[in-house]
Amino acid sequence: MINQLKLGTSLYDNVQHQFNKAAELINLDSGVRKILSVPTNEIVVHFPVKLDSGEIQVFTGYRVQHNNALGAYKGGLRYHETIDLDAAKALATWMTWKTSLAGLPYGGAKGGIKLDPAKYSMSDLEKITRRFTFALGDNIGPEYDIPAPDVNTTAQMMAWMADTYMSTKSPNERSKYQHVVTGKPVEAGGLEGRDRATGYGVVECLKQWARDKGVALKGMKYILQGFGKVGFWTAHFMRHNGAILTAVQDASACIHNPDGIDPDRLLSYSKYNKNSIKDYPAAAEINGNLFFGLPCDICIPAAMGNQITESNASNIQAKVIAEGANGPVDIAGDQILIDRGIEIIPDILCNSGGVIASYFEWLQNRNSEAWTITEVLKGLEVKLTDAYSRVKSRMLEYNTDWRTAAYIESVLRIEKAYKQWGIFP
Ligand code: GLU
Repeated sequence: MINQLKLGTSLYDNVQHQFNKAAELINLDSGVRKILSVPTNEIVVHFPVKLDSGEIQVFTGYRVQHNNALGAYKGGLRYHETIDLDAAKALATWMTWKTSLAGLPYGGAKGGIKLDPAKYSMSDLEKITRRFTFALGDNIGPEYDIPAPDVNTTAQMMAWMADTYMSTKSPNERSKYQHVVTGKPVEAGGLEGRDRATGYGVVECLKQWARDKGVALKGMKYILQGFGKVGFWTAHFMRHNGAILTAVQDASACIHNPDGIDPDRLLSYSKYNKNSIKDYPAAAEINGNLFFGLPCDICIPAAMGNQITESNASNIQAKVIAEGANGPVDIAGDQILIDRGIEIIPDILCNSGGVIASYFEWLQNRNSEAWTITEVLKGLEVKLTDAYSRVKSRMLEYNTDWRTAAYIESVLRIEKAYKQWGIFP
């Protein structure tokens, strides 16, 4: 079972620690450091919804806007019981680093609703999503703060959000607001390939890593935590590159087959099994505590934060960890992995394919265009290759680890922006 408890440091402690490490190394301007150490806006809304059962329930939603020095706030919304102000602040801060590193004209935000969506019907989820959007009001906007999917949120939910927001504006201006949310279904203004963009990006980063090492992904064995949108598409593209999936862990079970697990078969099975991989017939179920210690070349955490900690980092056998999730490794886990010489392709680079594709969707809507999937995947490859090589150069320049190098590249861009903008008044 995936660890959903907060062990050790909080997500916000983790991101602050990562930032401070980079800030020290580059001797970041002290004023800019103060600004970036706190989110700009922290919005908490409590809103009522009348459920199908007739019961009125009050939900708590969050939207934290960390920084917008480079452009509009950008980042996903997750529906999960672990979302709270600390998690939203941490995830919003990671978005600031991610969008800056990717070279996008965005800042960072994140939020969500504290709930387990599996407990609600589709019609309840629609009402909850629409009422949350209404409660946020003009705290979001196509040129101000642009939500997107994250853990447990779908393209359908993004369509409901965008529709609700647009419905609060004058009908003759509706189309002006379509880019208020990204990750929508294709027919509702979404981008071809947005669904697979994060997984595609994870594998693009691993391809670059393999190229640098002079090895091939073909034949490499990997373990995957999380079989949601990011996990499945990562597995899909890993298979395309000949890598072998040997274990998968989700919230319900941990399954293992050293001869390989077919991601498409597992997806069909899990769809029919209430989105759970439990009892999948073509693999053995093992104790979840064994997952990170399984023999493999690559480990891909693509679920929740704080999964690799002091308690399991020493067991990891992979040569490289590709962070499909946000914040899967905590401070102590990170240090253990660095000391053991295990490379970590950090979240703000590794899973940035999602927000890069969101940027393409935003441009598509803003300019009334329709991008093809070929254009989208090519665009992702170009942007990710560029970010990857900039991080690598910083790693050599500062003789540091991958994560700190990624932060350095990202934070330096924002520092320059502040120097140019100055501080009002
Ligand atoms: N939720 C994704 C992330 O954490 C995507 C955010 C977006 O597209 O705005 O990067």
